[in-house]
Amino acid sequence: MGSGPLAIGVDLGGTQLRAALIDRNGAVRNRKSVFTKAAGGPDVVLGQIEHLVGSVLQGVDGRDITGIGVSAPGPLDTRNGVALSIPTLAGFVDYPLAAALQKRLPFPVSLENDGISAAIGEWRFGAGRGFENVVYVTVSTGIGGGVIIDNRVLRGRLGMAGHIGHMILVPDGERCSCGNLGCFEAYASGSAFAARAMARAKHAATTLLGANGTAIDSPAVFSAARAGDALAQDLVGEEARILGTGFASLVHLFSPDVIVMGGGLSHEFDALYPAMSARLQECAMPAFKDVRIVRSELGENSGLVGAASLVHEKAENS
Ligand SMILES: [Zn+2]
Repeated sequence: MGSGPLAIGVDLGGTQLRAALIDRNGAVRNRKSVFTKAAGGPDVVLGQIEHLVGSVLQGVDGRDITGIGVSAPGPLDTRNGVALSIPTLAGFVDYPLAAALQKRLPFPVSLENDGISAAIGEWRFGAGRGFENVVYVTVSTGIGGGVIIDNRVLRGRLGMAGHIGHMILVPDGERCSCGNLGCFEAYASGSAFAARAMARAKHAATTLLGANGTAIDSPAVFSAARAGDALAQDLVGEEARILGTGFASLVHLFSPDVIVMGGGLSHEFDALYPAMSARLQECAMPAFKDVRIVRSELGENSGLVGAASLVHEKAENS
């Protein structure tokens, strides 16, 4: 990493809390992470952020730091810096997150929705680099995302655009974490995939899934599919087709150059890709059939890097 100004990127997640120094080229240094004390409430979690930022700063000249970019789960009103209700973190309801962070941290804080942060990271420094139109989708415990159109970040009312997981695919379908029925997330997230695998394995005559009492989670299903298990292969194919179906709607809505897929399930991108892209081709109108799906390049760092790049951008424009 060369010299020059540095921003601190913080990625507040329901499971992990990460922080690092990020330079203007998106390079990551001093990355630290801890498990988020998600049940502890805002004071505990903000204390963790303060501590983590302190440890990232060790040995660094504070004069090199331009600010702190924080990526946090939504729905988050980034116009006013308020966490409206974060389902994965206790107590973050109508909580003035930006102001509370600013009180504890020694540099200017800017706040961004996690899906939008990750989309910016991939667009500037990852798999979406060089494209004017990028839709980023993270497929993990839930589904989130962010949209870049015409080289601009799509933020929408209150900065909440891109809640891709909650587009409704199936009327009166499965119950989603948001309370609605039939959301994309309720069918295609890693949790939905694992739940489907558990339900099917119960009724299957022969399958490796759950054999000898082993846990049935996403990695177990992919590994059984690789070992030739028929049920697991069906489940992977089905998951890929559901993802492809959702992506087709995104392609029609936003006309991106690429869809960048991140999150835990993107580790199995190669296993999902054939059926996922075939389904996208099948559902897309003729003029949209050549849109590609690519794997995230920054992985766990996309949110950190994106949030920090907003800090650099602000500093350069001031
Ligand atoms: Zn939903």
